[in-house]
Amino acid sequence: MDRRAELAEALAHVEARVAAACAAAGRARDEVRLLAVTKTFPASDAALLAELGMTDLAENKDQEAASKTREVAGLLSADRARALRWHMVGRLQRNKARSVARWADEVQSVDSERLATALATATRSALDVGDRERPLDVLVQVSLDADPGRGGCPVGDLPALAEIITQMGGLLHLRGLMAVAPLGVDPGRAFERLAVAAERLRADYPEADRLSAGMSGDLEQAVAHGSTCVRVGTALLGGRGLASF
Ligand SMILES: *Cc1c(COP(=O)(O)O)cnc(C)c1O
Repeated sequence: MDRRAELAEALAHVEARVAAACAAAGRARDEVRLLAVTKTFPASDAALLAELGMTDLAENKDQEAASKTREVAGLLSADRARALRWHMVGRLQRNKARSVARWADEVQSVDSERLATALATATRSALDVGDRERPLDVLVQVSLDADPGRGGCPVGDLPALAEIITQMGGLLHLRGLMAVAPLGVDPGRAFERLAVAAERLRADYPEADRLSAGMSGDLEQAVAHGSTCVRVGTALLGGRGLASF
């Protein structure tokens, strides 16, 4: 099977899973966005997914994404390239903010005031020189376990960070929360806690209505608990091997 057919088949399968999860949760299919996580896979795969109709692609490392996003645009028609939205979902060092602000439409992994400040500064420069046209959509990554090494803002620190982000008016646009289910626990339980945090945030900031949760292995549980964005890599593109998470 050629790669296009392989990706088309995987996409149909993932689409069916998302549709079934929405139906089981009594939710409309269009409440949940499907994000293809293309990390470690070549630009040609990302372009094929775009040609198959996907508009939302995600990467987790600036170094890889900065060149890949340009390459993908070059492989697509102008219309398709313009329709693409790139999401940054990985841990981000402040010194990468300038680069990320040039290619990302949305950063889902904001977890500190320092990072938010760096992204706001970088967004202002990118807007000034015409490298981007819109403010940066951001999600706060929430830590659902006690391990700070994996990134994410502790649930208790969310209100303060949300407040800081909304004060960076015109540069950062707070759109919601993101989380990765901790290893070794029932993802349903983790997503339940996340849903409570998301509800609280939405009460204070009605525009922060996105909830990015669920990956290849746990998208059903995430959709059951209100996810509006599932981030799928392996189930669409295949395995990445060991050293690439
Ligand atoms: C890699 C990655 C995913 C996709 O994971 P799969 O299990 O391959 O679907 C989702 N979210 C984040 C933050 C990732 O780094």
